[in-house]
Amino acid sequence: MEQVDCVVIGAGVIGLAVARALALAGREVWLLEAAAAIGTGTSSRNSEVIHAGIYYPPGSLKAGLCVPGRALLYDYCAERGIGHRRCGKLIVANTSAQVSQLRQIEQQALHNGINDLRLLDQQAVRRLEPELNCQAALLSPGTGIVDSHALMQSLHGDFVQAGGVLALNTPVALMGYAHHAIELVTSDGTRLRTNGLVNAAGLQALALARQFKGLAARHVPAAFFAKGNYFTLAGRAPFSHLIYPVPEPGGLGVHLTLDLGGQAKFGPDVQWVDSPDDLRVDPARGDAFYAEVRKYWPGLPDGALLPGYAGIRPKISGPQAALADFLIQGPASHGIPGLVNLFGIESPGLTSALAIGQYVAKLM
Ligand SMILES: Cc1cc2nc3c(=O)[nH]c(=O)nc-3n(C[C@H](O)[C@H](O)[C@H](O)COP(=O)(O)OP(=O)(O)OC[C@H]3O[C@@H](n4cnc5c(N)ncnc54)[C@H](O)[C@@H]3O)c2cc1C
Repeated sequence: MEQVDCVVIGAGVIGLAVARALALAGREVWLLEAAAAIGTGTSSRNSEVIHAGIYYPPGSLKAGLCVPGRALLYDYCAERGIGHRRCGKLIVANTSAQVSQLRQIEQQALHNGINDLRLLDQQAVRRLEPELNCQAALLSPGTGIVDSHALMQSLHGDFVQAGGVLALNTPVALMGYAHHAIELVTSDGTRLRTNGLVNAAGLQALALARQFKGLAARHVPAAFFAKGNYFTLAGRAPFSHLIYPVPEPGGLGVHLTLDLGGQAKFGPDVQWVDSPDDLRVDPARGDAFYAEVRKYWPGLPDGALLPGYAGIRPKISGPQAALADFLIQGPASHGIPGLVNLFGIESPGLTSALAIGQYVAKLM
C-alpha cells in the first residue's frame, strides 16, 4: 500500500486551488481526478464571473471567502497573464419594490466590506447602457470575468512545479479511517494511506463522504441538485457591463454575462433535478428566457437565443429551504483526523477558489 502525506480528490478549480496551496506549503500532495482531464466538471460550466461578494450574509463563509478570494484572483490573473476583465456589473430594478431591494443589497454589501457600489437613476444607467430598460440600477465596478480554463491550467502548473502529483482517470471508490490513518481505494483497486484527505469532489462530494467508513451519517447533509441552463445570444449584445436582475430564490436570476471574446450568454436559471448528470438544455425553456430578459432588454430580437450549456449547483439545501452557506468540515466538526470535506461549493466558488485553498491548507 502506498503512503502519501496528503490526497486531494477532484481536480476542479477548488481541488486544484487546495492542492496547490498544500504543495506550496511544502506538503507532499497527490491530486486524484476521476475524469481524463482537469476542470471538466462544474468548473467548466459556470458564468466565469468574478463576484464582488455582495449578496452573501455577513459572517458567512461565502462572504468571508469571496471578498478576499476576489482580490487574490485579480492579483493572480494580473501576475500570471490569465485573461480577465474588470467590466463591472449592473443589478437592475424595474419596480419600486425592486429599487428598495437594491438599497438593501447595497447595505448588505457594505457589511461585507464592499463600499464601491453606486445606485444609479434611469438617466445615469442610460448613459452607460442605452439599450437597458430599468428604473434604477446598482453598479458594481469591482465585478469582472475570468478565463476559468486558463486559471485552472495555471493552478495546475503551480501545483506540479511545487512537486505535486496529478493522477487522471483515477476515481476514488472507497475511503475510511483505520489504524491511525485514512485509507483510500481507487476504482482500479490501488490502495493508499494518507495523513490528510481533502474531499473536493464537487457534485459527488456528499456521495463520497457518505460511504467514508467511520464518518457518522449526521455529518453528511442531503444532496440537492439545481441545474442552471444557459442560452447564448446569436450576434453581438449591445452591452459592455454584466447585467443582472435582482436575485431570485435559489440563484441570481437570468442574467447576461459576457465572455472575454464578447460573446453574450443568458442564465443560469434554476431547475431542480434528481441527477448530477442531467446536463441537457431543454430548448423549450427558451420561452421563459425571452420573457425574463425582455424585462431589462426589450430590444432582444425574436429567435436570437440558442440553447447553450448547463451547469449543476451542488446544493446542500432544497428548493424550499434558505440558501445554505459553503460547508467546510474539518476534524473539529466530524472527529476524523486529517479529513476535510468540502460540501455545497456552488457560486461564488470560482471567485473564492484561491481563498478556499488557503483556508483548507490552514485547516490541514
Ligand atoms: C451554473 C453555475 C454558474 C456558476 N457561476 C459562477 C460564477 O460566475 N462565479 C463563481 O465564482 N462561481 C460560479 N459558480 C460556482 C463554481 O462554478 C463552482 O463553485 C466551482 O466550479 C466548483 O468547483 P469544484 O472543484 O468544487 O467542482 P468541480 O469543478 O465539479 O470539480 C470536482 C471534480 O471532482 C471529480 N470527482 C468527482 N468524484 C470523484 C471521485 N470519486 N474520485 C476522483 N475525482 C472525482 C470530478 O470529475 C470533478 O472534476 C457557478 C456554478 C454553477 C453550477
